Amino acid sequence: SGEPSWARERTLVTVKPDGVRRRLVGEVIRRFERRGFRLVGMKMLQAPESVLAQHYERHREEPFYAALLGHMRSGPVVAMVWEGPSVVRASRAMVGLTDGAEAAPGTIRGDFSLHIRRNVVHASDSVEGARREIQLWFRSSELVDWADEGHRGSL
Ligand code: ADP
Ligand code: MG
Repeated sequence: SGEPSWARERTLVTVKPDGVRRRLVGEVIRRFERRGFRLVGMKMLQAPESVLAQHYERHREEPFYAALLGHMRSGPVVAMVWEGPSVVRASRAMVGLTDGAEAAPGTIRGDFSLHIRRNVVHASDSVEGARREIQLWFRSSELVDWADEGHRGSL
């Protein structure tokens, strides 16, 4: 496509089971759409144990790991891939600090959570991490290319 690669950075955002239960899926999508990012993939699923184990591999030795995986398996999640300039950094700013009780008002966690585990959303924390996580959660055939003429009519 004619678009520069910096405009096509991608990140993985998931609405966690607490966010789904609390009917916050639309709220999360609304914020990313309003900011101008493009939704390039989305699905609702009961996350497989193997996906969660790889997704949270970095936290395997943490004392909160079992509770984290238990939470992520407590209900369906909505996994999304968003695209746009600096979307990894921007989405971390939109999501806010890990602990909802510490997150700034105006951020998703700061507006909707007071809990360090039930914090509504996940967002990748680096471009490289995003690449890894997107591959883990999505097949390439599940992602749309907005710059592709073939897709433009349907978008
Ligand atoms: P973030 O989601 O902000 O990137 P981390 O990657 O550090 O945070 O942790 C992954 C997830 O693990 C957090 O979103 C949260 O659900 C959970 N978590 C992190 N730290 C703690 C903690 N100290 N106690 C309980 N759960 C935690
Ligand atoms: Mg993280």
